[in-house]
Amino acid sequence: MAIFEDAFIKVKSAVDVAGEKTGEWVEISKLKIAAARQSSEIADRFEALGKMVYNASKAGGVDHELIQKKVEEIDEMYEKLGEINERIYELRNVVQCPTCKAVSPKEAIFCSKCGTKLVGKEEKKEDPIQEEKSEEPSDWQPPVDPIDPTVSNPNDEDDMPQ
Ligand SMILES: [Zn+2]
Repeated sequence: MAIFEDAFIKVKSAVDVAGEKTGEWVEISKLKIAAARQSSEIADRFEALGKMVYNASKAGGVDHELIQKKVEEIDEMYEKLGEINERIYELRNVVQCPTCKAVSPKEAIFCSKCGTKLVGKEEKKEDPIQEEKSEEPSDWQPPVDPIDPTVSNPNDEDDMPQ
């Protein structure tokens, strides 16, 4: 990790000399460092997860819940890495092919490597909190059929913790 720190310091001092013009380049460099750091962290997590599974398997019991948690953590880190890369592509005016991951100029209609159509590609929709929805009066109840057979029994849990 120290290598990245050093690179970052060198980039910074270069900017101090060159001035504002390199602002965008610096931003890209910073993002690249962040992406490299994130990749390295993901690799560490994979190693830790592997060790954890190995040790648990030797000990005779694998905690699937814990593994699932670790897998989700890695997924989140991949997502963050993807966001960093997207910002880099944006600054570099390129787009990444969703199929082969090659980069093409932003104006490109088709991927130069595999020919996948790049325009009109699906935008990632992220709306974790829908604040607009809380406009309804608090005492409002959805119409529910009192004998609705689809309503599940809350006591019907079979995965209760032991
Ligand atoms: Zn492609």
